Amino acid sequence: MAEPIPDGLVCLTFDDGVKSQLTFVAPILKELGYGATFYISEGLRFLEDKTRYMTWEEIADLDGQGFEIGNHTRAHKNVNDQTDEELLDDILYIDRLCAEHGIRKPTTFCYPGYAHGERAVTVIRNHGFQFARRGTAPDVEYDREGGRGLAYDPESHDPLLIPTTGAAGPNYGMDDFKWSVDQAVDGKVCVLTLHGVPDLDHAWVNTDPEDFEAYIRYLNDSGCTVISLASLSRYVDGVTN
Ligand SMILES: [Zn+2]
Repeated sequence: MAEPIPDGLVCLTFDDGVKSQLTFVAPILKELGYGATFYISEGLRFLEDKTRYMTWEEIADLDGQGFEIGNHTRAHKNVNDQTDEELLDDILYIDRLCAEHGIRKPTTFCYPGYAHGERAVTVIRNHGFQFARRGTAPDVEYDREGGRGLAYDPESHDPLLIPTTGAAGPNYGMDDFKWSVDQAVDGKVCVLTLHGVPDLDHAWVNTDPEDFEAYIRYLNDSGCTVISLASLSRYVDGVTN
């Protein structure tokens, strides 16, 4: 039986396997007992730049610390440009790498580049994912440098198309962050999308460490419940296959 959704329920998600998520973000979250999901892909420059992207051993470390490792596909391609078979292969590849490194099998998914489509939803539903996170679009047009979106409303949103309530980036600041968190009332959930803290590879999704510390202080001062996307299953029925 699912628990009622408390006000101040926040899902924290971090995309792309950026090294600062392990070195800077994880210790801060750990100290507060916060959950979070780290969405891993071998796309972008994950394979070339091991100073800025985590190794699989480091990803296994996050899993061992109790954080959720989510599937962000092998190559970080727009799912709408892939055939169903290509998308499934890229999902299975990340599952396999997780298994090889002793990481728990991902139960949630994140659409690369915030692009989703009906076909992809069917592929990930058939694969057995419980929840999947998208960007702010189509409800709110995405500003490439961060912005506000809708809160996740389990009454109206497909669990495989969970909107981003706040996407961190240069155009997203403390006022936006507070606004996003304050949407988590009346059965709705705030879902936050961050990348590197800092993100030296992609300036348009960067979060400054001082800003991140201020965000976390706000969550703590507000008494928020901060969880991974997979932990939504405590409060919400995911996909029932
Ligand atoms: Zn990504």
